[in-house]
This record gives sequence, C-alpha cells and structure tokens, in this order.
Amino acid sequence: MEKPTGTIFYQRKPSESVCRVVQLPCEHYADVGKLRMLVKWLLNKGHSSFVCTLCPGGAMPWQGLRLVLDLPEDELRECERELQRNSQQPSLLSKCPACSRLMQRLSKSELIVTCPSCPCSGGKDCRFCWDCLREWTGSQGDRCGYSDCSSLLLLRSCSVIESVRSAVHQCPRVRKCPGCQNLLGHAGGCNNILCPYCRCSFCYRCLTVSPRHSPSCRIQPNPSVL
Ligand SMILES: [Zn+2]
Ligand SMILES: [Zn+2]
Ligand SMILES: [Zn+2]
Ligand SMILES: [Zn+2]
Ligand SMILES: [Zn+2]
Repeated sequence: MEKPTGTIFYQRKPSESVCRVVQLPCEHYADVGKLRMLVKWLLNKGHSSFVCTLCPGGAMPWQGLRLVLDLPEDELRECERELQRNSQQPSLLSKCPACSRLMQRLSKSELIVTCPSCPCSGGKDCRFCWDCLREWTGSQGDRCGYSDCSSLLLLRSCSVIESVRSAVHQCPRVRKCPGCQNLLGHAGGCNNILCPYCRCSFCYRCLTVSPRHSPSCRIQPNPSVL
C-alpha cells in the first residue's frame, strides 16, 4: 500500500491529458487514480475520515467519496470493511435504509443524512433521519418529524441483558411488543412475557407471538440496519 505522490486535488479542472479527474462533492477536482490510492492508504493506516486538502476542515463523508471513487465491487467491500474496523465511534456509521450501503456522518449532531443518487430512490438523493432511519420528514435540520424517533433510537442502541443463567441472556434490554408496538423491558422470569399494554404473549428472545416458547430459539435482534 503506497501513499500517492504529486498533486491529487485541483482547484480547477486540469486537462484530460494530465490525468483522469473526477469532481468531488465540494466541487474541487481530484486525480481519481491517486485518490483511490490515497483512500486505500488512509484506511490501511487506520483512518476513518477523508478530507479534500483544498477545503480546510471540510471532511468528505464516505457515501459521497464512494460515488466518485467508483471502485470495483470487491475493492469497495474491502474498503468498507476497513472503514468499519477503523471507525472509533460506531455511532458515526450506519446503513442507508433505502439501498443499505454504508453511510458516514461527520458529527454526532448531524441528524439528516443524505445518500447521494441512491438507486432505490429513483436516482434522487435519499434523505433520512440518522436516529430512526426513516425518510426525512422534519422541517428543521435538527428535529426529526416522527414523534417516536427517540424510541427507535433506543431500540437500536440499547445494551443487552447480561445474566448468564437467565433465558433472556444477551437479549436487548428494550423490546417492541409485536402486538401493540409499545416499548417494554424484561422484568425477570422466563423468556415468555405478557405485554402489560395489550395482553399479547410473546417470546422475549425471538419475538414470536406464542404463549409458550422454548428458550432454545434464536435471539432476534431489534430492528436495525447495520
Ligand atoms: Zn474541496
Ligand atoms: Zn441509499
Ligand atoms: Zn427520526
Ligand atoms: Zn403489546
Ligand atoms: Zn422464542
């Protein structure tokens, strides 16, 4: 893995005879061959953020970079594996709810995330809420339009029950009732629970609606796309 030398980023479009260039989301240009080398070199060195050197302080989110890099499928997969390994804060990576490609946000305060020319949204940008992973409906940039946004975030990010002798060992601490969709936790006892809101009986492990389910079933994760 070599670090590319010479000019990578250009203020204006250089002549095609110099190198094959692509336009970046910041509207600068880059030598695509060297940019690919640079990204692979950075990933190899354990980095998880990418900047255009002509844009001080402006990092490029992975989804925009991926589009201009246009890597072959196997190289792309390898890069994304490395990116996930390198990312210090897993909360900065997620997957697009429409096309399930890897998405990166640049700061924890960013709530609307845009997947550029997402193929599943008819070539349009897919804008979604990072917390609940639904299409963006809010009017303000820092407020999701769904009132149950924070409960979905809780489902996606809650820790698991650590109780080796319990039938619900390793199950998420918060579950959504398959009957009424209310959130509830496990209050002790076996894996079969009765929802206090709708009286629906379900298995806390696999979420099957059934009055009695043997605890040998596979633990169903909470809805999450990552
Ligand atoms: Zn730039
Ligand atoms: Zn997408
Ligand atoms: Zn939301
Ligand atoms: Zn219920
Ligand atoms: Zn079960």
